[in-house]
Amino acid sequence: MAEPKKATSPVSLLQAERQAEYTELARTVLSLRFPENAPKAFVHTYGCQGNVADSERMKGMLAQMGYVFTNRREEADLVLFNTCAVREHAEARVFGNVGALKPIKAERRHMIIALCGCMMQQPHVSERIRKSYPYVNLVFGTFAIQRFPELIYAALTRSKRVFDLSEDNGALPEGLPVYRDSAFKAWLPIMYGCNNFCTYCVVPYVRGRERSRSADAVLAEAEEIIAGGAKEITLLGQNVNSYGKGSADGVDFPELLRRINDLPGDFKIRFMTSHPKDCSKKLLDTMAGCEKAARHLHLPVQSGSNRVLRAMNRGYTRESYLELIDYARQVMPDLSVTSDIIVGFPGETYEEFLETLSLVQTVKYTSLFTFIFSPRRGTKAEHMEDPVPYAEKSRWFSSLLKAQEEIAAARSASMLGKTYEVLVESETKEANGMVTGRTDGNINIDFPGEPGLIGSRVLVRVTEAKNWILTGARV
Ligand code: SAH
Ligand code: SF4
Repeated sequence: MAEPKKATSPVSLLQAERQAEYTELARTVLSLRFPENAPKAFVHTYGCQGNVADSERMKGMLAQMGYVFTNRREEADLVLFNTCAVREHAEARVFGNVGALKPIKAERRHMIIALCGCMMQQPHVSERIRKSYPYVNLVFGTFAIQRFPELIYAALTRSKRVFDLSEDNGALPEGLPVYRDSAFKAWLPIMYGCNNFCTYCVVPYVRGRERSRSADAVLAEAEEIIAGGAKEITLLGQNVNSYGKGSADGVDFPELLRRINDLPGDFKIRFMTSHPKDCSKKLLDTMAGCEKAARHLHLPVQSGSNRVLRAMNRGYTRESYLELIDYARQVMPDLSVTSDIIVGFPGETYEEFLETLSLVQTVKYTSLFTFIFSPRRGTKAEHMEDPVPYAEKSRWFSSLLKAQEEIAAARSASMLGKTYEVLVESETKEANGMVTGRTDGNINIDFPGEPGLIGSRVLVRVTEAKNWILTGARV
């Protein structure tokens, strides 16, 4: 585990100084309460990499307060759930896991239970926690992360429960320490929020308006990550293509990518998510010209039907999307493309679903993240007529998965006998002397290897392709 380090930035330094004082206060209280052993924190993150990056900042602050981390909630002195609101399923899991804490808290009365993230930013959720989960001590939303030390201090010292659900669309969590989960791959948020209001999506409501970090702040953090030895940096934002809109320094996303590419060091750059409506040829040309940009583009299409895309407010058509993919592959012939797809958007017909299926068969994605539409409170799609039963949507969903499996199997077969450079990520689940590496195009290959290889790049030749599972050997 990496030591917490500072993400420096000229923005919000006053806030950072104030929070540094609360960090010291919390540290003092904790050292008095836990004179023998350091207090333990269990931090669990739901949802996207944006949340993972937020959690790494909160862990940085917890480490400064004197907490150490545990994987066992039963022995924790602080439990923090960073939640996701994007689909109902994710929310149900959080409520289930908070419910499961009740008997633990009954045994460990001093334990602080804290909930944060996108779910908490929805008033109906925070109200439900207030009314039905009285043993939760601290609830805060996505805008309050930079006040985290102050909130923890309040939870430690006040008898009352603490709720901070304020909204601040100017908030940039800058000047915070970061406790990175991985020593070799790092998440680097470049912007927060979203202005797109896709009609199914809750993100703009819980994450606020788009705001970009300054190029200086991003580059300083990138340098710090590279100096720490990371082999891969993933730039994060809900729509990285609108990075820098309206910013004073005039740096747009392609320019930012180029500047990071020009930093010295042995590392690769990934980014997500790139919205098709704003993905420009300039970005694709820049990517093609940046030797450190991984040959992987996550370009979520959501649907292959123009009527559904309009109803989703996506701002592009099937044709313009396919044209973009063609151009991307023209300038980067070895490009791997992945996507997100929603099946069963309200009013989607079977014929419209078939248009999605045919688009998937045309593009031949490396992999897909597929979801059945989940109505979200407060979004436009929540009240759209939705006549197709869930069971029918599930059948469509299964046929999409099957089509993608066939595409992936054909792609796997075409990789047989070829050699790829991979970044070794972990032992395989079975831990049978095998490790897993990930190619530039974001494809996993398992091969016999020592755990000592984790975090390094090696060459692997594919020796077996079973469906979409690839096995190889080092060369
Ligand atoms: N900003 C990213 C997506 C963030 S949410 C983008 O625009 O591509 C991640 C994915 O969750 C989305 O791409 C979408 O496929 C899915 N998703 C979001 N809201 C959903 C909903 N209400 N029901 C089902 N899937 C949803
Ligand atoms: Fe949600 Fe659309 Fe914004 Fe992505 S671009 S976060 S799908 S509203």
